[in-house]
Amino acid sequence: MSARERWVIASSNQGKLREIRELLGDTGIEIVTQGELGVADADETGLTFVENALLKARKASRETGLPALGDDSGLCVDALGGAPGLYSARYAGEHGNADANIDKLLHELRDVPDAQRTAHFYAVIVLLRHADDPQPVIAEGLWRGRVLHERRGDGGFGYDPVFLDVEQGKSAAELDKDFKNRISHRGLALAALKRQLALL
Ligand code: IMP
Repeated sequence: MSARERWVIASSNQGKLREIRELLGDTGIEIVTQGELGVADADETGLTFVENALLKARKASRETGLPALGDDSGLCVDALGGAPGLYSARYAGEHGNADANIDKLLHELRDVPDAQRTAHFYAVIVLLRHADDPQPVIAEGLWRGRVLHERRGDGGFGYDPVFLDVEQGKSAAELDKDFKNRISHRGLALAALKRQLALL
């Protein structure tokens, strides 16, 4: 990796951008969002998280000519055969309506006892060095927990209020933000990415 390289992140999410900038801060690589370069969101038509991450990164790289990072994530609930999974953001129909998504999840699990409410958050982040890169860098992270019966805490986003970190005895919405970022699926995926980049 040469210093003064510029990479595009295939997301307009400012939180993700900040995390990735912090992570790569000591590499000298400049990170810009696809939105800043006029790239629209890709259609998430893949059937797996990694396919969607690659679709996002490939579109951003193709349209900008830059190396691109793409990511995808979701909540997988064992009692629901892995749902909402890929469709976590739009589980209740409307993209990004976290309240409706949680209501639907709690309804689906209404008769499921604690021991069977196991779930995990999953995140994958990929780097394509160019749009036709046949050998992307792929990093994953997984955070195991359990789905609560009702919301707890008011931090975080998405399914955080109903995701229990069993070890801490707190919902993801009750955890300190920096702590969550270290132990979460996304934090682990970013740490794994950094380890792999060091090997490039
Ligand atoms: P995306 O990776 O931005 O497409 O996010 C997919 C969806 O998964 C989000 O809209 C949330 O519903 C859910 N999700 C992913 N990561 C988290 C998390 O850390 N907390 C809560 N919900 C999450």
